[in-house]
Amino acid sequence: MKRIYNDINLSKRNSFGVSESAREVVEFDRAEDIVDYFRGSRPAQWYVLGAGNNTLFTRYYDGVIFTPTCSALTILAESDEWVDVRVEAAHDWDELVAWSVERGLWGMENLSAIPSSVGAAPVQNIGAYGAEAKDVITVVEYLDTEALEVRRLENRECKFAYRESIFKQELRGRAIILAVEFRLSKIAKPNLGYGDVIKEVEARGEATPKSIREAISAIRSRKLPDPKVLGNAGSFFKNPIVERAVAEHLLAQYPDMPHYDVAGDTNSVKLAAGWLIDRAGLKGYRDGSVGVHDRQALVLVNYGGATGGDVIRLADYVCTMVCDKFGVRLSPEVNIL
Ligand SMILES: Cc1cc2nc3c(=O)[nH]c(=O)nc-3n(C[C@H](O)[C@H](O)[C@H](O)COP(=O)(O)OP(=O)(O)OC[C@H]3O[C@@H](n4cnc5c(N)ncnc54)[C@H](O)[C@@H]3O)c2cc1C
Repeated sequence: MKRIYNDINLSKRNSFGVSESAREVVEFDRAEDIVDYFRGSRPAQWYVLGAGNNTLFTRYYDGVIFTPTCSALTILAESDEWVDVRVEAAHDWDELVAWSVERGLWGMENLSAIPSSVGAAPVQNIGAYGAEAKDVITVVEYLDTEALEVRRLENRECKFAYRESIFKQELRGRAIILAVEFRLSKIAKPNLGYGDVIKEVEARGEATPKSIREAISAIRSRKLPDPKVLGNAGSFFKNPIVERAVAEHLLAQYPDMPHYDVAGDTNSVKLAAGWLIDRAGLKGYRDGSVGVHDRQALVLVNYGGATGGDVIRLADYVCTMVCDKFGVRLSPEVNIL
């Protein structure tokens, strides 16, 4: 089944809360409900919108937006060591994490409180506190809108990397994710090595999926604005990866600059975009209805009534200031339409 809405306002469908509209929004249950759109004359412009937590609309969207609505969770198989589950795209990510944690399963607890649909999670390989969706994903099932068939990709075929996957590269504009399969572990694997996590977990006693989820949810709610209260899309920029020589040059001037090795690439170093923005003097900066959040400089916020254009102007200003000070170019993590 599908539901079609024409010239619909999108303000409730994006976490920035910007008030742009789209020519057509199609909410669909199954792949067969939408394949006809891709037979013959395909829409010139189309987009898949999950829960809209990583999408910024900057103008009227003169195309078709597809939103999956099925959210079933099915246990596929179970052993003494793991449980395999299949979850449909519209399932709320954090409800899935809660489900896993309630059963004492390991693997998703560090990814607590990330606002996402399950279908969007593989796209940018959501990650936080030393864990990534790729650590638990086994298979991604999608509608290939060119071959017009449902296909399955194993984890290694998804080309997961930091905030990256095949769905942002070769399959961009081609794949509509329908379901994701995960393997959750029954073997204890606490992952406490990131930031304040260990301290927060110890304050709660033993490290269990539940105590880690509670600790991470508490840290996140202290640091990040709730989009229901203050429009935002989480980290607006990716952490930039620069050549090691560039990082060393900057470290000579700023010895306290956070920097991280990049797995498998000894010539590159990852910098912390939030630190660069903060040190460019922009934490808490406000320009009318938009601003840089005062507790997390990576987050741009809508104080109310901002347009997507206002957010883009602020983002450009932030990029210019960071580039002028550090010579490092920031690129957006958010999808800008
Ligand atoms: C307060 C806040 C905190 C955040 N913290 C984090 C964090 O810690 N770590 C992190 O990684 N991200 C974080 N984010 C970003 C966001 O949670 C993720 O990008 C999430 O995956 C977005 O899910 P969504 O369903 O809302 O995606 P949308 O914004 O709807 O879509 C995001 C992208 O996925 C594509 N997409 C969505 N659904 C599908 C589908 N079914 N098939 C194919 N493509 C699809 C879209 O086309 C788009 O390219 C945060 C966002 C907010 C607002």
